Amino acid sequence: MEKDADKLLSNLEERLKFFRDIGADFVFKNETAPVRTPSPPGGPSSSPPPASMDIQAVHEEILRCRKCPLAAGRTQAVPGEGHLHAELMFVGEGPGHDEDVQGRPFVGRAGQLLTKIIRAMTYERADVFITNIVKCRPPNNRVPRRDEIEICSPYLREQILNIRPKVIVTLGKVATDLFVPDAFGAMTTLRGQFYDWNGIPVMPTFHPSYLIRNEGNKEIKKMVWDDMQKVMVRLGRK
Ligand code: SF4
Repeated sequence: MEKDADKLLSNLEERLKFFRDIGADFVFKNETAPVRTPSPPGGPSSSPPPASMDIQAVHEEILRCRKCPLAAGRTQAVPGEGHLHAELMFVGEGPGHDEDVQGRPFVGRAGQLLTKIIRAMTYERADVFITNIVKCRPPNNRVPRRDEIEICSPYLREQILNIRPKVIVTLGKVATDLFVPDAFGAMTTLRGQFYDWNGIPVMPTFHPSYLIRNEGNKEIKKMVWDDMQKVMVRLGRK
């Protein structure tokens, strides 16, 4: 009982610290603006089609995969992790050094920040599913090339079709471009509104590493938190 109370207190402290970091003055404001849902480029939204492979089989195939040039430089592939029926899914760009070594997504500094964001949204990491559009680390953390994304993205598609999340959050421009290919513009214009991918709402926001690179910029943190609040409203967490 005491342990549970300690854990609750520690979670609360973490959330409050995150709120303080991003500026508590705007965190507690009530978000009443309607969520704008641009029409999907391919027509009205539909239900996601059925998956063609079981998710465990997808993950086993990813771990063995050598279909694209990224296999040559990796330590291990990083399929992703989390709840296999998560209502919320985060999709980043690709594994970095720490992820490549540990075989887990978002475990470096950007991952620690993502974990704080997830907790501030009233979830634990184990409640959500976290992955990337390419499953192997690009050399020197370069942006994955179009051909690599094309070869790898069917794995992500199968993950989504298995998990069937209620909302997908894309982290950064590269992941956003995969889901919203016809929406041109910078993240500042793409973020903050839902798009449709096979009937699943997609919310683009900044990548946590961008937040870290712009550590003193409260405006960017505020934008991310605004985006996450819209996700929480959509998921009935707020
Ligand atoms: S990045 Fe994707 S397609 Fe390329 S080797 Fe890794 S798992 Fe296979």
